[in-house]
Amino acid sequence: MEQELQRLQDEARQELNALTEIAQLEDFRIRFLGRKGSFGTIMRSLGSATPEDRPRLGQLANTVKAEIERLFEEKQSALSAGAAAAKADRDRVDLTLPGRQPTIGKLHPVTQIMNEVCAIFEGLGFSVAEGPDVEHDHYNFEALNIPAHHPARDMHDTFYVSESILLRTHTSPMQARIMEAQQPPLRVIAPGKVYRCDSDITHTPMFHQVEGFLVDKKVSFADLKGVLTVFTQKMFDKDLALRFRPSFFPFTEPSAEVDIACVFCGGKGCRVCKRTGWIEILGSGMIDPEVFKMVGYDPDIYSGFAFGVGIERMAMLKYGINDIRLYYENDLRFLSQF
Ligand SMILES: [Zn+2]
Repeated sequence: MEQELQRLQDEARQELNALTEIAQLEDFRIRFLGRKGSFGTIMRSLGSATPEDRPRLGQLANTVKAEIERLFEEKQSALSAGAAAAKADRDRVDLTLPGRQPTIGKLHPVTQIMNEVCAIFEGLGFSVAEGPDVEHDHYNFEALNIPAHHPARDMHDTFYVSESILLRTHTSPMQARIMEAQQPPLRVIAPGKVYRCDSDITHTPMFHQVEGFLVDKKVSFADLKGVLTVFTQKMFDKDLALRFRPSFFPFTEPSAEVDIACVFCGGKGCRVCKRTGWIEILGSGMIDPEVFKMVGYDPDIYSGFAFGVGIERMAMLKYGINDIRLYYENDLRFLSQF
């Protein structure tokens, strides 16, 4: 039995030396120290030893058991220290590595220009109002002095939802909606989407406009010129010449289309301005007295002006883009340039 105990201790030491994984320790403990393990088997044979030998053998057995336990604990702490070190090594953050650049989205160029236009007019004391894209025929046409069968309706290429409901063809319905609900003085801009059944390199079925209008006593065409001059100067960051060309809109009288000196050639004449040196940027005019009458304002007391700016067109001029459809193809190579 003495030999058996000695052999067990050697065997345990060898096995423990060969262990490399913490997970193997439990298996070792059961096989050597468990109730049905090797040590237990030897202890059961103690009963068959002579009474003289028993105390000595018992003492020896205890020493061997204590030694195996000591070796076991030593190995256990060595392995867990190793595992902790390995984990720390795995989780270590290398501060010298280059950072990962997160991809950040940007505002669409149309949204950027829209925000810019609104900011300029807000700086001039205009407030911003938004209205519905799906509009009543009344606000889109009737209240703006465009009755049924008026020839101007043909120019609008309207998407009708039903006989009296349509997708607004301009942001001007907000003029009628606001004047109907509020009394002058008014200084409002109305940005938003508008829809027309039209598509080529300068037209898309949906585009953006900013409508602006001002109503007060003694408003003159000179006020309109002043406001639009400040606007174009701020928008294009230079002192561009402005030209007002007589035009016709049913809801303004007189009406004018506004040209700026060509931003590409500075007025000398180029392909973009068709050699004229001028580029059309917006429509405007003094609000027609008929429109005032429809919302209950007295045209002898109040006067006002209105204008409509095409946002895509403004962006094309500002960024030198020649095809309006590029805005809506969602090509990041195009969009990320702005
Ligand atoms: Zn030009």
